Amino acid sequence: MGSIQVAIARVERSDVFLAVRRAVNLVGGLQLGEGDLLIIKPNMLNARTALEGVTSDPRIVASLVKLARERGARVVVGDSSGSSTPLRTREVFKATGMEDAVKNAGGEVVDFDSQQPMLVEVASNPPLKVVVPRLLIEASMVVNVPKLKTHVQTIYTGAIKNIAMGCIIGQTKLLVHRLGRSCKDLSRLIVDIYASISSNVKLHVMDAIVGMEGNGPNVGDPVELNLVLASRNALALDIAATLLVGFDPKEIPTISYAMQRGLGPSSIEEVELIGDAVSIPVKRFKKPSIFKTNLLSYLSSLAYPVLEWRPYIRRQQCANCGSCADSCPTSAIDLQTSTINYSKCIRCYVCYEVCPSRAITLKRRISLPISRLF
Ligand code: SF4
Ligand code: SF4
Repeated sequence: MGSIQVAIARVERSDVFLAVRRAVNLVGGLQLGEGDLLIIKPNMLNARTALEGVTSDPRIVASLVKLARERGARVVVGDSSGSSTPLRTREVFKATGMEDAVKNAGGEVVDFDSQQPMLVEVASNPPLKVVVPRLLIEASMVVNVPKLKTHVQTIYTGAIKNIAMGCIIGQTKLLVHRLGRSCKDLSRLIVDIYASISSNVKLHVMDAIVGMEGNGPNVGDPVELNLVLASRNALALDIAATLLVGFDPKEIPTISYAMQRGLGPSSIEEVELIGDAVSIPVKRFKKPSIFKTNLLSYLSSLAYPVLEWRPYIRRQQCANCGSCADSCPTSAIDLQTSTINYSKCIRCYVCYEVCPSRAITLKRRISLPISRLF
């Protein structure tokens, strides 16, 4: 494969529209016409904002809506938030300012969970069937708007994961978490799902205005980069984004497996950065605590399962919203008592990921086989 371009545009004087238009035009434009239907898929994990580093920036999405409306296309912005319930996704759209931004630009918002579903077979091991909204296939094209963030389960989340995990609906998300218990297994499933459902995803525009380092995608620290990235290829974009934040792309399991599967560049050298010149890395992001390579973590990995990270609910901070319990793939959370049943918990950290109040924390604990019963 020849080189695949990734455009980088700086946001100058807070003009997000100019940066989005420049990045998109550098990779060939929106390529939509009168009457086409465009679906935009941002990352709307929970009700925390873009400037907190959690959700996709409404200004980027509104800019895309405006560009598509100028071409006469109808635009629908949709997602299935972390807790997979339609009500919560609608709340997230409202609370983050996304709904107003999209409507003001001439688009509509929908929650994927209440759309007509469609079953898709995924060529994975084990074989899997996932449910996605039919809209994804019926649209003229889908534009992916991921966020540049770290992730406690997969080190990094980006373009591939935003489509794979954000477009599957209903109980399928829980099933994927039950099957993908390790970083490697979950990453392989994510890539396999992406390969099966992304045929209509033609453009990726990444929000790197405020990213997140450390314990992303929810509890890490926001980092201002003031960049918008765009590419026609999700893997190329993920490689570029990880280079920009000082990670070795091949150490990110979704990236290395997607390279093996031939979903884009087969080497880092095949990614061509165009647009605004930036230093590489722009900023070195901290990895999630679970993946930090220091002596203690090395010893912990040797000692596994003696030392492990466990989620805990901080009762004083809990707003009792129910998102963690709804998202838990093993029903291990009891909200009446704010406790977690560790004999059921599979340490997937989805509860930690979705909690909008940052009321769930991770602590390293000794876990002898007998203590797993409690
Ligand atoms: S309690 Fe949290 S970490 Fe444990 S299985 Fe449920 S969602 Fe995953
Ligand atoms: S810990 Fe409390 S605030 Fe956080 S997701 Fe669970 S119920 Fe909601």
